[in-house]
Amino acid sequence: MKRIRCPKCDEAILFDETQYEPGRVLVFTCPGCNKKFRIRMPDKASAARRAEEEAEVYGRLVVLENAFQFRQEIPLREGENVVGRLVKGTAANAPIKTVDPSIDTTHCIISVKPQPGGGAKFILRDGPSNTGTFLRGDILADKDRVVLHEGDILNLGAATAILREGAASDEEE
Ligand SMILES: [Zn+2]
Repeated sequence: MKRIRCPKCDEAILFDETQYEPGRVLVFTCPGCNKKFRIRMPDKASAARRAEEEAEVYGRLVVLENAFQFRQEIPLREGENVVGRLVKGTAANAPIKTVDPSIDTTHCIISVKPQPGGGAKFILRDGPSNTGTFLRGDILADKDRVVLHEGDILNLGAATAILREGAASDEEE
C-alpha cells in the first residue's frame, strides 16, 4: 500500500499502487474535504532510476574543490556510472555539481563489476569527451579500458578526482 496526502487538508489516503500501470494518472476524492486531486504513478524510467539509486555502492569518486565546484563524493554503483557535469535532463547517472565548462556532460564512464571475493573492479573509459579523461596524468585513448585502483587520480576538465573503494565516506581528507 502507498500513502498519499490530500493537498488541501493533509488527510492521509491509502491505496494499492500495485493495481495501476506505471505513468498512469489517478484521480482521488479526499474523504475529509471532498477535494479532487490527481497523482501520476511513477513511470518506468523513474522506477528504473529509483532501483538504480538503491543499488549497492562499491566506491566513490572524490571530486576536489576548485574554482568551479565544492568538494563532493560521487557514489559508484554496480554497472555503468556515467560521470559528467550536472545539467538539466542529464544523461549522466553519476553527475558532478560544477560550473566547469571543460567537463563534458558525459565525460567518462566508470564500470563497476562486483567480484566474487567481495569488493569490485572499477574500469574507466573516456566518454568520449572534448577535453579528455586523464589517469595519473596520461590521457586515455578512445579505446582504452583501464582498471582503476584505490587512490587513483583522475583529471576531468579542470577537476581532480580520486577513486576511493568502499561505500564509507572519508571526511578526514
Ligand atoms: Zn482533503
